[in-house]
Amino acid sequence: MNYHITDIASAINASWLQAGIDGHVSHLLIDSRKLVFPGGTLFFAIRSANRDGHQFIDHLYHQGVRHFVVSTPVDPVRWPGANLLLVDDTLSALQLLAARHRSQFSIPVIGITGSNGKTIVKEWLNQLLEPDQLIVRSPRSYNSQIGVPLSVWLIQPAHQLGIFEAGISRAGEMDALEKIIYPTIGVFTNLGMAHSEGFSSMEEKLEEKWKLFRHAEAVIYKKGNTLVDNWLREANHSRGSLFSWGSEESADMHVYEIFKADSYTVARIRCGTAEFQLSIPFSDEASIDNALTCCAIMLYLDVPVQRIMERIPQLHGMAMRLELKEGINHCSVINDSYSADLSSLVVALDFLSQQKQHINKTVILSDIPETGLTSVQLYENVSRLLQRYGVNRLLAIGPVISDHADLFRAAMIQVQTFISTESFLQHFDELHFHEETILVKGARRFAFEAITAQLEMQVHQTVLEINLNAMLNNLRQYQQQLRPGTKLMAMVKAFSYGSGSFEIANLLQFHGVDYLAVAYTDEGVALRKAGIHLPVMVMNAASSGFSSLVEYGLEPVLYSLPLFRKFESFIRQEGIQYYPVHLEMETGMHRLGFESSDFQELLVLLKGNSFRIQSVFSHLAASEDPRHDSFTHDQAELFVHYCSQIEETIAYPFIRHIENTAAILRHPQWQFDMVRLGIGLYGIDSSALHRLALDEVSTLRTTIAQIKKLSPGETVGYGRRGIVTDEALIATVRIGYADGYPRVLGNGTGRMLVKGSLAPVIGSVCMDMTMIDITGIDGVKEGDEVIVFGHGLSVSTLAGWAGTIPYEMLTGISQRVKRIYYQD
Ligand SMILES: *Cc1c(COP(=O)(O)O)cnc(C)c1O
Repeated sequence: MNYHITDIASAINASWLQAGIDGHVSHLLIDSRKLVFPGGTLFFAIRSANRDGHQFIDHLYHQGVRHFVVSTPVDPVRWPGANLLLVDDTLSALQLLAARHRSQFSIPVIGITGSNGKTIVKEWLNQLLEPDQLIVRSPRSYNSQIGVPLSVWLIQPAHQLGIFEAGISRAGEMDALEKIIYPTIGVFTNLGMAHSEGFSSMEEKLEEKWKLFRHAEAVIYKKGNTLVDNWLREANHSRGSLFSWGSEESADMHVYEIFKADSYTVARIRCGTAEFQLSIPFSDEASIDNALTCCAIMLYLDVPVQRIMERIPQLHGMAMRLELKEGINHCSVINDSYSADLSSLVVALDFLSQQKQHINKTVILSDIPETGLTSVQLYENVSRLLQRYGVNRLLAIGPVISDHADLFRAAMIQVQTFISTESFLQHFDELHFHEETILVKGARRFAFEAITAQLEMQVHQTVLEINLNAMLNNLRQYQQQLRPGTKLMAMVKAFSYGSGSFEIANLLQFHGVDYLAVAYTDEGVALRKAGIHLPVMVMNAASSGFSSLVEYGLEPVLYSLPLFRKFESFIRQEGIQYYPVHLEMETGMHRLGFESSDFQELLVLLKGNSFRIQSVFSHLAASEDPRHDSFTHDQAELFVHYCSQIEETIAYPFIRHIENTAAILRHPQWQFDMVRLGIGLYGIDSSALHRLALDEVSTLRTTIAQIKKLSPGETVGYGRRGIVTDEALIATVRIGYADGYPRVLGNGTGRMLVKGSLAPVIGSVCMDMTMIDITGIDGVKEGDEVIVFGHGLSVSTLAGWAGTIPYEMLTGISQRVKRIYYQD
């Protein structure tokens, strides 16, 4: 379905800055990096705290885009033939257009909101109803002010049901989303305590969420939350008619008995005259709730009970996120083998294209289930997508995609086809996976987990998970603290504070960080080898590494006269001019830097040399501590003095920087031309101001190897230091001091999270294992997961127990602990 540009202009009440070529629009674009189909794309130049879409018009124009919605009267002469539509607010225009598009369709639309479970309920519902009708739904968790319009835009005439989720974080946001989704059926998953900052009370939050259902004929929700029930009882708001489920007899779907086994749950249900037993293939509370919500929706939709009873047991867990894992033969593997449809393929390809560590990119893709397009249209679109995202090789699995292999060959993609997953696995060894990034994406029935199991490295069961969305959020939070025009250098020394190397650098590079800094030359070389092209400052370059420094275009810090002279003579011998370097000034840290006694001689050296001084910087010793503010002030003043002298001497501009994480917040007046963001990027507020909504990036998880029941008087571990006084349950977990779990955390000092409860370490920490006391925590089994830090247990807390700081804790996690990167 597409719209003529003039129809779009009138739908969004735009005025014409310039009328260009005649044309139709079928794709909406917000992020210029995600351009795939220039011809039919309409770009909305949206302005956010960190980015102004208007800056990308020129780039897009040169890529062939001709339709733009802007909110600034840009000068049209630069872009002949472009349609430039002017509106007051581009985001509102996007939303208006999506709402118009929605109003063309009279299909039932389910709108889901709530604090948790929106995405999984949407995905499960899709799984459950997909065999009977053609469904359109939000890709992944596209539920924001931008995500919702882009999702609703996907509705096509062939669709028979829409399922969209809406997420809000602040009062006043739901109105816009309601107008776009315009749900005919509402689903409220639950009311959690999460993200309450934007609301003054729980009632206000509930009231806001419920606005999604303003025009819904019914709302499906769980009964039993007192706050929700009371609020619904008050009659003074429009709430739609209700269809409830829960353990209370008055619920429309009465769940009167629940039996939980290890890996499944049986629920006995009564609804109207029907009475049946439902087997749910999960045993955790959240999954049971989500499955029962799906059951209630199906009952409301009059799906026959028999069908519900057949399909719910087939539900499968799904990763709500894209994960990047280390694979065999130095490959990286992105496992998204839970669904296959065009819109989630775009999201996955986008993630793939951010990975620069390997030149070769391979996609393993199954047949894509019914989309409403003809198969030629569908695979033509897929081949353009793959081409656009730089995929070199496609391994196509399934009869339909195999039939269209020529479309991919025409797009210069190397293709091999396989009739089934089994046949692919038979040929696995001949495919020679080696040093490439592989995206695995397949429809459920192709059971691609057999493929990912072959591709991924076996990991020992302790992993450090890195949440790339959290890192991005932290980056944004700090970017918003910068004065306009201030550059940002990200500190990625010591494997990015323990959390990875090129994986993190890729993300930072993609999201517009200006500079990277590492401690040593080999760290910088590793980044270059992984395709990082940002400028990289090396803080501690040794003379033995000068040649690789130059070979890889890394920029050393010069901090003393001897180092200056040594590097200068090296550069001169190489016949290089204007080599980029940085100068570090001593102002009070007393670590590295030119001393005041060196300064006059430095100025002399600066008068004639083979360098280009990129930046001059110093390091604050106690920027986080108010007791040392006057010292910090003196450091900054001395730094300014040095800079002005250097500026007079070299007579060209350079970047001045002195601030680390804590200083960015505490001393915004000294941000100068650039700041150096370190620990804050990883989610830790070293300023202790707690003004930013940071998310901790890493979670260290392990698993329970064995559980033992001990009697009073028995002891645990080396030296018999763990003494059992009452009957106790002791779990041995797969982490020890060799993994970076400090030995000082033994004997009750440290605790780990088991099923949401803190279990103290008992006895001494061993090299590869630790014993914890899980007495009193219900339902713990061998193989269960244990959180060492992360969700619910801050690394700062753990560091406090160990008598150290989060910096040491994070960088101390040994390299044998596998890192897993993911993006929601
Ligand atoms: C590590 C480092 C930083 C970053 O410090 P954070 O406290 O982690 O923000 C900044 N500058 C220099 C010179 C550093 O060595």
